[in-house]
Amino acid sequence: MSGRVTEERHGFPGALRALGGPGGHVGAPRHADVVVVGAGPAGAAIAILLAEHGLDVVVLDRAALPREKICGEYLSPEAARVLDRLGVLKALDAAGAAALAGMRITAPDGTSVVGRYRPFGEFRPYRQHAMGVARETLDGALVDRVRSLPLDLREETRVTDVLVEGGQVVGVRAEDREQRPLEVRAPVVVGADGRHSIVAQRLGCRSPHALQRLALATYVRGVPECRELGEIFVDPPDYAILNPLGPERVNLSVVVPLAHAAPWSRRLEDFMTARVRQLPHLARRLAGAERVAPVRALGPLAHRVTPPRAGGVLLVGDAAGFYDPFTGEGVFTALRSAELAAETVVRALRAGDVSAAALAAYERARRAAFAGKQRVTRALQTVIAHRRLANWTCRALARRPGALDALLGVFGDYVPPRALASAVSGAGFRTPR
Ligand SMILES: Cc1cc2nc3c(=O)[nH]c(=O)nc-3n(C[C@H](O)[C@H](O)[C@H](O)COP(=O)(O)OP(=O)(O)OC[C@H]3O[C@@H](n4cnc5c(N)ncnc54)[C@H](O)[C@@H]3O)c2cc1C
Repeated sequence: MSGRVTEERHGFPGALRALGGPGGHVGAPRHADVVVVGAGPAGAAIAILLAEHGLDVVVLDRAALPREKICGEYLSPEAARVLDRLGVLKALDAAGAAALAGMRITAPDGTSVVGRYRPFGEFRPYRQHAMGVARETLDGALVDRVRSLPLDLREETRVTDVLVEGGQVVGVRAEDREQRPLEVRAPVVVGADGRHSIVAQRLGCRSPHALQRLALATYVRGVPECRELGEIFVDPPDYAILNPLGPERVNLSVVVPLAHAAPWSRRLEDFMTARVRQLPHLARRLAGAERVAPVRALGPLAHRVTPPRAGGVLLVGDAAGFYDPFTGEGVFTALRSAELAAETVVRALRAGDVSAAALAAYERARRAAFAGKQRVTRALQTVIAHRRLANWTCRALARRPGALDALLGVFGDYVPPRALASAVSGAGFRTPR
């Protein structure tokens, strides 16, 4: 079995043709109310919500769907709420999504705590469990729902450029599987095209992040009693996650500094095996387990994105930025940002004003929804980067299960981070000496 490093790069061999150069000719543009670039969780979600408002929506995805995507495949309890609203939750349950009652966290010294998705004060999870779902199943269910609606979904159609006129985004250029050019014009373009968003790049919004990490991912079977809890192993500078998807399939992801992985890019299996051995508590957990899939790798993980200055455009999901998969909120963020963006788009189209000022309501809603959790995930990066601090935090959480449940509620996206602050101070946390 050979490993593979996935780092999507954008070459635009068709761009010249799309611009009317040799080999191609742009036909009459397709006009729509909204063009959505990308049909992953964010793009599919916003397309479904906009179609329910009767809008004419074109969705373009460069892949044949569902595509392969490296992911820990954990869905927070609150993701279930949005998936239910989108009409796909029952399909995921029927497909055998694993119900995860909580999370076990193991510190470098072996201290281990288990938190559960329970109501915390006034805050209740949509369901008292998270889910382990293969991306193929999740993305497949979402795209099936897209296909069932009156939407113009075009797979294997790669967006190559963004059309900007007078400071306003007015559409996109794309090319289909045969590299035939296509122009779609719409008052609103939604960039839902993931980590390497062409929409964000073309508008100058995307830049690298100082956090340089790489994820190694595979599947294992034969891990004893790995059914109803996700498991996180913290061992600086690495961390690892076991996420059960079914009785004989567990997603194993190990996140390492990018620089440590670089010399091993052609020997990922060897690198992952060596790395797992360096995490003794994980290695013990995997004794007797068997790897059942190739090792894939993806990095760097984090990137920064600033909101577009132009009108007529919004970025949702990973296209709007990505930090680190430790707290597993990427899909929830994609779905929730799509919900927030759909509200703004519908309001702006009704008012006939899709200027940057009108669409700024979405950025404000995004900040209100995600800024608190982002602060928690950044603070956690400090904790998991320092052995002593990670041990101390885990021991403190072991003494105060209430604070642990609150933390898990924040991980699970149903407890606001401000409630965590009171749970932590109520737990009498003092910094280690
Ligand atoms: C190692 C790792 C582990 C993770 N683990 C978890 C986890 O356990 N739980 C969780 O919730 N999140 C996790 N995430 C994050 C999660 O995978 C993402 O946040 C999520 O996929 C974002 O959805 P999206 O729709 O924004 O982007 P994507 O899922 O990346 O979808 C983007 C879509 O755009 C299409 N596209 C791209 N470029 C173009 C183009 N030029 N033209 C047309 N189409 C285009 C792609 O084909 C794709 O279909 C993890 C991420 C990583 C890297």
